Amino acid sequence: MPELPEVETIVRCLGCLLLGLEVEAVRVAFRPVIRNRKPSALDRLVGRQIVGLRRRGKMILVDFSGGITAIIHLKMTGQLLFCPAAAPSDKHTHLALAFRGSDHELRYRDVRKFGFILGVRTGDVDLAPELRGLGPEPLTLDLLSFLRRLEGRRGRLKSLLLRQNVIAGVGNIYADEILFQSGLHPLAEVSRLSRRCLERLWSAIQQVLNEAILFKGTTIRDYRDGEGLEGLFQNRLEVYGREGEACTRCGTVIRRIRVSGRSTHFCPRCQRR
Ligand SMILES: [Zn+2]
Repeated sequence: MPELPEVETIVRCLGCLLLGLEVEAVRVAFRPVIRNRKPSALDRLVGRQIVGLRRRGKMILVDFSGGITAIIHLKMTGQLLFCPAAAPSDKHTHLALAFRGSDHELRYRDVRKFGFILGVRTGDVDLAPELRGLGPEPLTLDLLSFLRRLEGRRGRLKSLLLRQNVIAGVGNIYADEILFQSGLHPLAEVSRLSRRCLERLWSAIQQVLNEAILFKGTTIRDYRDGEGLEGLFQNRLEVYGREGEACTRCGTVIRRIRVSGRSTHFCPRCQRR
């Protein structure tokens, strides 16, 4: 699933291309990807300009003139692609926006169809159920606010990192990488961590997510940026997907266990309990 760095990469990539474009036509091939049950703002996009592109957690927010925002969650296999309108579109392309005076269109493609698009009033974005419960953005969360956020919480460290209501945007790949960088065991009990460990965790979050954005995200299978290009961070993963391989720091074999049903990779020597 695209996590914070992948979604941030898509938003940065598409922002330059989409801003100012005016919607000329909307083509819906598979209506269920639109989460609004009744006719909504999304049915009135023609003639509106794209005035903003943002990210919140793992979601993309496209702002249109006239105060309409499309919230897009790519979930497992969703892709948002700006491509030539003449390029063939396959059966997995569920929605497309054509733009006035442009030979390119914006396509939403999703093989497994877990993703969704939801139209809301821009002023109500934070009230949408999909966003209301989200925790703060990790990259703008200072150390003290982070420590306060974790105060009194219990549970396994890995599970905590995955909880979007604690901090938004971290998923399975980056949780493993963050824990490796911070030298903490995925099964460590959060309430027992020293302040020093939590500080290491905070810096690892900043470091790993920023570096992954710099390298345009991780492509294991489906993830592509807004122009269809793969990310590069998969070549820099230290533990995720490296079960049975040697740790780049100490040579110990990387292990895989399950934590809260999610496959979890770590180095038993660098990340002692
Ligand atoms: Zn190691």
